[in-house]
Amino acid sequence: MHRWGVNIGADGLSSDAVPESDRLCPTGRGIPFGLDSKDKPTHVTQVKPGHTYRCPSCKWPLSAVLNTTRRRQHFRHRKGAECSDAYETSLHKAAEQVIKESSEILLPAVVARHGGQSRNITDKAGKLQYDDARLEVQMDGIKPDVVLREAPDAKRSASATRELLVEIFVTHRTEQRKIDLIRERRLPTIEINLSKTPRFVTPDEFKRSVLYEAKRKWVFNNAIHDAEAALREKAEELFGGIGASLNAAYKVEFVPIHNRWRQDIEDARVEDLVGTHVPGDRCFTVAPEIWQSAILSRFLRSPDRGRFDAEVTLDWLDRERLLKPAFRRLLGEIDRDLLAHVRAVVPEFRHPLRVVEDYAGQMVLYGLFPHSHSNGGSSDSEPTEFAEERARRIQMYYWRLRVAEAEEVFKAIQAEAKNGPLMEWESWLDTFQVALSGTPRARITGREVGFRELMDHLKALRQMLEPNAEIPAAGLLGLPLEPERDAREAERRWREAAESARMAAEIEWGRQAAEQEAAAVPKPRHKVGWKRRLRQRVSQMRDRLSKLIRPLNPLG
Ligand SMILES: [Zn+2]
Repeated sequence: MHRWGVNIGADGLSSDAVPESDRLCPTGRGIPFGLDSKDKPTHVTQVKPGHTYRCPSCKWPLSAVLNTTRRRQHFRHRKGAECSDAYETSLHKAAEQVIKESSEILLPAVVARHGGQSRNITDKAGKLQYDDARLEVQMDGIKPDVVLREAPDAKRSASATRELLVEIFVTHRTEQRKIDLIRERRLPTIEINLSKTPRFVTPDEFKRSVLYEAKRKWVFNNAIHDAEAALREKAEELFGGIGASLNAAYKVEFVPIHNRWRQDIEDARVEDLVGTHVPGDRCFTVAPEIWQSAILSRFLRSPDRGRFDAEVTLDWLDRERLLKPAFRRLLGEIDRDLLAHVRAVVPEFRHPLRVVEDYAGQMVLYGLFPHSHSNGGSSDSEPTEFAEERARRIQMYYWRLRVAEAEEVFKAIQAEAKNGPLMEWESWLDTFQVALSGTPRARITGREVGFRELMDHLKALRQMLEPNAEIPAAGLLGLPLEPERDAREAERRWREAAESARMAAEIEWGRQAAEQEAAAVPKPRHKVGWKRRLRQRVSQMRDRLSKLIRPLNPLG
């Protein structure tokens, strides 16, 4: 008896001490809310003794870490389970619960924006009174986090009950596919941004944040949608249909004219300086080799080769009819509103001035330190600081071209991918990629071979957007191309299934042929029934296979 008592006492003591392995929090962030026995999110400061709380993500039991200052209390996994979504799911579920238990929520301001313009549709942000909140209900392909039903208003006729969808953003923005469906169906939807939630919040702070204080915006709002369409139309009209004409101009093919500057280029032996594709160069009427020859020829013939003026050059290219007429509006003094409008309605827009400037990088180098062949100067006599400056400029120039080259493919992927709007060029440049053993930026500023690897990988990812393309073995480079990867994966499995179906069909046909051969030879009577059954099975199999294969045939 005494011995048992001691043991129980020892157990009681040891339960206060936390084993070392359990002190680790795999997410690096404590979990603020755990699920109680009724799956209700419960804040760590409100746990009841003797109750068990589970992880909202993986459903493993959690321990409440309470023996610290109040603001440091949090839940953590009991057995050191790896669970990367716990923090996000915890806030997500708790926010849904807060909305479910309330009856009022602040709506974002109703503002229409286009280009540099914005128009307030309502002066102050309104509040929605609701009498029903449903969590994560299926709505024909979309599962909104919350669907609110507007409470009946005495002032308004109760003819139609209005619904508002609420999306909660903790670490992942609402998926583009979801946004597309919401906009297509014109479902009023807001997104509440909880990404700035501090490491520790009290239940009250969290509630205020969800209902009123956290940033929120309209994903879709009928009034904004209509007002923006009107703003876009008005701007397009005001600017004489420039958006439509630029979009059309980008699609016009290069005109195959005679390169009348070619001789100058050959005389100066700078053939290698013309013919590079520069992103945005579809603003010109002719292929890169020709407009670049024109620029270079004009520059080589100019008396002052120490400087280069991109604007004057572009005006000259226009006079030489090398700039597509639609772009003429963008020359000279730039109207900011017009430019903002163009950027909003022309997806592949790049200002012609930037195209010329990019190409000019090479020319500036050439002009500052002329090639020894063309003017008899010698690079041997170059002072050291000039040599250093030259090296620095070469480096800067190539980096700039590389950035433009990579950005062009990135933008193309962004324009075509389902989750494209989630991609941000500047931040992607600095994210560590295991496949690159570093950041994309490091590849761009690094050695040529590494940069080429990056470009090949990006191009493979762009290819992957096409049906039946290969998935690059080295992965997605941190780009949100999961929908496309999954589609390619499904197609591959489908092809494999079709291939094995084809092989099975071949085997069956072979078997049938053998059977027919065998049928020619007289057999004992008792085998006839077996043969008929086999024949029936073979023909059934054939029907099934031909049905299976038909949709794969592009002509069928
Ligand atoms: Zn978990």
